Amino acid sequence: MSRFKADKIERVKAALNTCTMCGFCKSVCPSFKAIGWDSALSRGRIALTYGLLNGDIEADDSVVENMYTCTTCADCVRRCPSKVDIVDIIETCRADLVENGLMLPKHRSMAESVKKNGNPYGEKGPAVEALGIKPHSAETGYFVGCTASYRNKKTAAAAMSILGKLGTDFTTVDEVCCGSVLQRIGVDEGEVVALMKKNVDAIMSLGVKTLVLSCAGCYRMFKMEYPKFVDVSFNVLHISEFLAKQDLNLTPLEGTITYHDPCHLGRHCDVYDAPRDVINKFPGVNYKEMAYNRASSHCCGGGGGVRSAYPEEAARIASARLDEASFADTIVTACPFCVTNLGSSKGDRNIEVVDLVELVDSHLIA
Ligand code: SF4
Ligand code: SF4
Repeated sequence: MSRFKADKIERVKAALNTCTMCGFCKSVCPSFKAIGWDSALSRGRIALTYGLLNGDIEADDSVVENMYTCTTCADCVRRCPSKVDIVDIIETCRADLVENGLMLPKHRSMAESVKKNGNPYGEKGPAVEALGIKPHSAETGYFVGCTASYRNKKTAAAAMSILGKLGTDFTTVDEVCCGSVLQRIGVDEGEVVALMKKNVDAIMSLGVKTLVLSCAGCYRMFKMEYPKFVDVSFNVLHISEFLAKQDLNLTPLEGTITYHDPCHLGRHCDVYDAPRDVINKFPGVNYKEMAYNRASSHCCGGGGGVRSAYPEEAARIASARLDEASFADTIVTACPFCVTNLGSSKGDRNIEVVDLVELVDSHLIA
């Protein structure tokens, strides 16, 4: 077997050496809780990455599986007393696995679809065509994202309905995949940056000054990742931030409501208040936090490419999160991935899982 090339891991060598193996990350890691082995835990993945770097271990199937069962939730980063950027280490290791030809088949087909179709779902035609709305010049743009364009279409319809009811002159964008899934699973940076450029050019060509997004994953890309590679000269708002600043004429909600923080909106982007501010605009709302909320929120299990490659693990993590919300009638979240993964793992629990925009749209009086 040829020697594993660890050129990218070499760049995070200093971070690898910062881990003291204290195990504090063990108390929070959702993949460890779902799988039960130290190798499926933050520090285990650091040890595996170190082993690959030094040629101490081979990149066999078990190593690949342990690196790809991480949801990139970043709870370990929050918990780590040594401030190790564990997610960066894991994503860097994944990039070297891909470079060495060790991509998971599910991920390969998603990456090939993004290249061919501009989305990871194998769907033909641009995202906006799927919604039947053409881009035009406007100061506010709505970036739908692949999941709401092709899978959770109700989310896209609700977001656009809200913008319409509020009298916002908005446009859709001739968009391609934001690049999140490719960056999470370790696809070559050049391919991700090409997508970034395409999207930014499309947005700029419409004269957009504020871009509104309803997907937490796409939002994180535009807010945190795009500026590292391309010039983002427009405001980037998650739709909860946009709505938190609006007067909303809402009808009351029934039952007990709680909110699940998507990892990519919360821990990765620090957006905690805006969705709660929007929920608190509902007259007389009966809102209750889960025990683990805001920065300590537990992951839904759907991110980091886990749901596509390891659906059983994703469902186990979602199930644990749903149990934490057992007091509620409705769990609101702000990411189509969380809605899908929590919603499909409900079983016979008597709880509704809904995207914030769908909840607002169904109660918003124009
Ligand atoms: S908490 Fe941080 S330093 Fe401790 S084992 Fe986990 S990654 Fe290493
Ligand atoms: S990012 Fe989340 S799933 Fe991945 S190692 Fe850290 S705590 Fe575990």
